[in-house]
Amino acid sequence: MALHKVVIIGSGPAGQTAAIYTGRARLAPVVFEGGFLSSGDLMTSGGQLMITSEVENFPGFPEGVTGPELVERCREQAKRFGADHREDVIDEVDLGGFPLRLRTGGGEWIEAATVIIATGANARWLGIPSEQTYMNRGVSACATCDGAFYKDVHVVVVGGGDSAMEEATFLTRYASHVTVVHRRDSFRASKIMAERVQKHPKISVRYNAAVDEILGDGRKVTSVRLQSTVDGSMDEMACGAVFMAIGHSPNTQVFRNHLELRPDGYIALKGWTQTSVPGVFAAGDVADSRYRQAISAAGMGCMAAIDAEKLVEEYEATGRLHGHA
Ligand code: NAP
Repeated sequence: MALHKVVIIGSGPAGQTAAIYTGRARLAPVVFEGGFLSSGDLMTSGGQLMITSEVENFPGFPEGVTGPELVERCREQAKRFGADHREDVIDEVDLGGFPLRLRTGGGEWIEAATVIIATGANARWLGIPSEQTYMNRGVSACATCDGAFYKDVHVVVVGGGDSAMEEATFLTRYASHVTVVHRRDSFRASKIMAERVQKHPKISVRYNAAVDEILGDGRKVTSVRLQSTVDGSMDEMACGAVFMAIGHSPNTQVFRNHLELRPDGYIALKGWTQTSVPGVFAAGDVADSRYRQAISAAGMGCMAAIDAEKLVEEYEATGRLHGHA
C-alpha cells in the first residue's frame, strides 16, 4: 500500500492552505474534502465559508468575495501545486502506530506519514425550518462576517453565553438597536461581558424567551416570534436580522478515543499545531474556539503544513519512510 506523506482532512481555509503549502513542498497532499461522517458530524466540503455570503475581511479582496468563491480559488491554487482533492470523508482512524491509518467513506484503509486535521466546526442552530429559509438573508451565526450588512437595522442575538455577549456588543457598531434573546433569566456569560451588554444603551435583553419562528416576506427577515419559557405566551418582535450565538460544535467525533480532546470537544494542541499523537497536526476551527476566522484558520493551515513538512523531512533523513513508498 502506498504511503501518503501527508493527508489533509477538511477543505475549508485551513485545509486548503495546508494543501497549498504541502503541495509547494512537493509532499503530494491528498485532501479529503468532506461530507457527512458516520459519527453524525457534518464536515461540509469547503467548510463554514460555504454558508457565508460576502467575505469582506479576508486580505487581498478589497471588493470582498463570496465564501464559496474564496473556497474555490483556494482549491484551484492547491490543485496547481499537485494537491489531490477527493470528494470523500475519513470516518475511522487508527493512530496508534506508524504509519497512521485512515479509513475513507468508501471503506478503503489508507496510510499516511502525517495527517493534518482541518475538519472545522459548525455553528449550532435552533433547528427551526425558517432558519434555512432565511439563511444569509437575515439569519447568520457570525456577526464579524455579516454584521456590516445590517446597518441601521434592529437585530436580534440569540444566546446567553460569552459569544452572544460578544456578538451583541460588536453588532452595536452597525445596528440601530440590538436585542439579546435568552431562554433563561440569567446569562451564562462571564460577569464582565454580561455587564457590558446589560449597561449598553443600544442593547436590550429579553430574558425567558425562545425564538419560536423567524418570519419574513420571502426575501428577508422582518420579525421573530418569541415564546415565553415561563408561561408559553407568544409575541412578535420586528427585526431585520437574527444572529445565532448558541455555541459551536467541533467535528471531532471520529478522533474521540484516538487523540486528546479538550473537555469542550475541541482538539487539544500540545505545541503550535501538534496534537497528542506524533505526526498528527490540527488547524482551524477544529482546534480554535476563540478566533474562528477564515484568515486565522488559513494561518493555522500554513503552520500545520510547515510542521508536517519538517516531520516528513526528519522521517526521510532517518529512513523511516523507507520501504513504505
Ligand atoms: P456557551 O457558553 O455554550 O453558551 C451557549 C448559550 O446558548 C447559552 O446561554 C445557552 O443557554 C444558549 N443555548 C444553547 N442552546 C440553545 C438553544 N437551543 N436555544 C436557545 N439558547 C440556547 O457557548 P459560547 O457562548 O459560544 O461560548 C463557548 C466558549 O467560548 C465558552 O467557554 C466561552 O467562555 C468562550 N468564549 C469566550 C469569549 C471571550 O472570552 N471573548 C468569547 C466567546 C466565547 P443556557 O445558558 O440556558 O444553557
